[in-house]
Amino acid sequence: VRIRLSLLAALAAVAVSVPATVAAVPEQANPHATLVRVDVFDPAKGGKGGPPAPSTANCSDEPAGATSSSDWALTGWKTAGGAAHLNSSTVPAALGDVRGVLQASFDAWGSEPNVPDFTVVADGTVTRATANRGADLLFGRVSGNAIAVTYTWRWSDGLIESDTVFNRSLAWAILPEDSSGCAETQPFYDLGNIAVHEFGHIYGLDHPAAGRFESMYKYGYTGEVLKRTPGDGDRTGLGVLYAP
Ligand SMILES: [Zn+2]
Repeated sequence: VRIRLSLLAALAAVAVSVPATVAAVPEQANPHATLVRVDVFDPAKGGKGGPPAPSTANCSDEPAGATSSSDWALTGWKTAGGAAHLNSSTVPAALGDVRGVLQASFDAWGSEPNVPDFTVVADGTVTRATANRGADLLFGRVSGNAIAVTYTWRWSDGLIESDTVFNRSLAWAILPEDSSGCAETQPFYDLGNIAVHEFGHIYGLDHPAAGRFESMYKYGYTGEVLKRTPGDGDRTGLGVLYAP
């Protein structure tokens, strides 16, 4: 709204000063979206379409001091935060109400200094990633055996939009806390663990070249919960990106 008002003011000023020589200015075209990134979160093991092992997870305990402030990378955008629209009708019934888990996953980043907040609202309606100027969260079809995919668009007026699709075909759970970062007996993908990684992309973080125990590490594991808490590299990268 602010942009449009200033544009109108500028046009009015031009019209007053040189009315006879200014050609009719067309209405500003509706902003359009360009898909700039598709971040695919791959499973660590199992091969194409392979399900996780039936009785054990494939995660690893996080050793003390395993994250490093040098292990971070950026995608090239920042977000302004706002509402994230969850389509509750797409959520696997076994998970129940996931709003709290998803909100906590945004807050893992948004609680850092100068970082904008997202608020998860269960008013989403889309069933696939859709460029509609709002962040959408849903379970749906993804290509291959990705755990989740985050799509990011840059709109012609500068707005950055990201949608996250969690692979509805996988075995999901909301696992209990595990101080080691890995629940070896749980062959499920923990929603919070995966969501923190995906929302890191929404905030503008990329996969670091190294950093096996950072939240933004490029692979996800069954039973893993350590990504719920950003590591030293994750937090350093975010701090650089959102420094005032
Ligand atoms: Zn990723």
